[in-house]
Amino acid sequence: MTELFKALKIEKNEEHQEINLVEISEDDLMEGNVVVDVTHSTLNYKDGLAMTGSSPIVRNFPMIPGIDFSGVVRSSEDSEFSKGDRVVLNGYGLSESHYGGYSERARVNSKHLLKLPENISNHQAMQIGTAGYTAMLCVLGLEDFGITPKSGEILVTGASGGVGSVAISILSGLGFSVIASTGRLSETDYLKSLGADTVIDRNELSEPSRPLGKERWSGAVDSVGSQTLSNVIAQTKYGGAVSACGLAQGMDLPSTVLPFILRGVSLIGIDSVMAPMSKRERAWDRLSKDLDMEKLAQMVVETDLDKVQDFAQPILDGKVRGRVVVNIS
Ligand code: NDP
Repeated sequence: MTELFKALKIEKNEEHQEINLVEISEDDLMEGNVVVDVTHSTLNYKDGLAMTGSSPIVRNFPMIPGIDFSGVVRSSEDSEFSKGDRVVLNGYGLSESHYGGYSERARVNSKHLLKLPENISNHQAMQIGTAGYTAMLCVLGLEDFGITPKSGEILVTGASGGVGSVAISILSGLGFSVIASTGRLSETDYLKSLGADTVIDRNELSEPSRPLGKERWSGAVDSVGSQTLSNVIAQTKYGGAVSACGLAQGMDLPSTVLPFILRGVSLIGIDSVMAPMSKRERAWDRLSKDLDMEKLAQMVVETDLDKVQDFAQPILDGKVRGRVVVNIS
């Protein structure tokens, strides 16, 4: 008898899209050479966009959302992977053109799978999730640029969100002095418990201002974009750098070239979706060494496959703190 398992499916007709918890079989999965029993997934900002349909994340319908998952290999046609291997997958078109992580089982391309470091459990891998792995890519961007704790303070925008919370925790663990920018000053104690030294109101950065401002930080991790990123760049110290990964405020960048040509400031672009495997391995290895797992646990809310949609609009409204883990099986 065909074995059935649960998955969340987005269907779309001409007027609207709807999400249903359905039962499917392996025959319904997309192409790939490894089948994984998914144990955990997460909710990221992009999952909010996909589930609400407020941005064209999903390219083919029907689609199983979930831009990442961790799990255990069930069967593999690639000798690099064996039954029982613990794996993680971020991006590579999951929830866009390939069925994603909100499913008890996934069939994927082995080239997109990464074996988890020994000391990261499947649950922890998704406490980190795409947001946390992207935060590490941002930190590596600053490090590779040559920024060290001696360079001076580092700003983290969107501080109470997933990328922001993990970035603060990593940077503080590495000895950086961290300024957290948030719209939720009520979360000051939380942000300080993660390692922020100073917490500022994001209103300071969200309105149009001069092309060059007072030099305030040596580097920044920005998940907000738009006017905020423009102000972050304009207030970066001479020779500093900004890792830009997000667009929570907007995708525009109303800036001038002055910070670049008068202060030698650099803008580092961060993409997690198509990042090459060597970069991913490095990021996950560093996460296994440099992220305080107790602090990570502090950031997390847990949910299940049948309730994850309830978080879709709140994450877009900036009302979700830290990370959301979706327990799959
Ligand atoms: P979250 O929603 O968890 O965090 C975003 C945070 O940004 C919010 O918590 C809020 O923090 C702040 N924020 C929200 N709206 C606004 C606004 N209008 N103006 C200023 N700040 C705002 O999302 P994630 O951390 O998962 O993702 C953050 C961003 O990074 C998203 O845009 C996402 O698409 C992008 N991203 C990009 C990746 C890549 O590969 N480049 C990978 C992962 C994420 P607070 O309340 O503290 O101000």
